[in-house]
Amino acid sequence: MKKGGKLIIFSAPSGSGKTTIVRHLLNKFDGLAFSVSACTRQRRSGEIDGRDYYFLDEELFKEKVQNQEFVEYEEVYPGNYYGTLKAEIDRLWDMGKHVLFDIDVEGGLNIKKEYGDKALSVFVKPASIEVLKERLHHRSTETMEQLQVRLNKAVSELKYEDQFDCILLNADLQTAFETAEKLVSDFTGLKPNDQQYLKSVV
Ligand code: 5GP
Repeated sequence: MKKGGKLIIFSAPSGSGKTTIVRHLLNKFDGLAFSVSACTRQRRSGEIDGRDYYFLDEELFKEKVQNQEFVEYEEVYPGNYYGTLKAEIDRLWDMGKHVLFDIDVEGGLNIKKEYGDKALSVFVKPASIEVLKERLHHRSTETMEQLQVRLNKAVSELKYEDQFDCILLNADLQTAFETAEKLVSDFTGLKPNDQQYLKSVV
């Protein structure tokens, strides 16, 4: 699959619902696998190293930067680095999967630049800034100060939508799921699991 493997990038401001959409797609398509990023932020309760992120200390992260092990990396929030390891993409391609990303807007654009036509970049757009603010406020994982940093970043990221291959409006979640499934099918040729099942029983 290495040559045939594709990349589908979901990027959005924090609070747009991209993680929910990405999780849905992973359940729907056996042929997709999630690109686990490396990051230096604290692990949240319930998160597992190697499943949610590769949690690294800053020293090791910077060593990997020096060794050019990242396709892209960024200080997404002050003091917190996130990045996509080249070895992670190879690992998933070697498993015969197309690779799905849940990364921030700048990282998404960088991956698209690197991989060109092999990659589809999707900007997940919230219904409004008010909805986005509300979602961020409902998360209990951040302090007020962290929340404000995320909110400021989210609002500034909304300006980048035109640089993506397509925009996925997340006003109604079910509609967003269906549109996302179609984007994946059209780009990779994969069929959602339930359709495969229907085909096999008809
Ligand atoms: P969180 O701390 O909430 O898990 O993620 C913070 C932000 O970092 C999210 O917007 C997430 O999509 C983004 N992110 C996760 N992994 C990467 C990565 O590998 N590179 C970049 N540039 N951003 C990432």
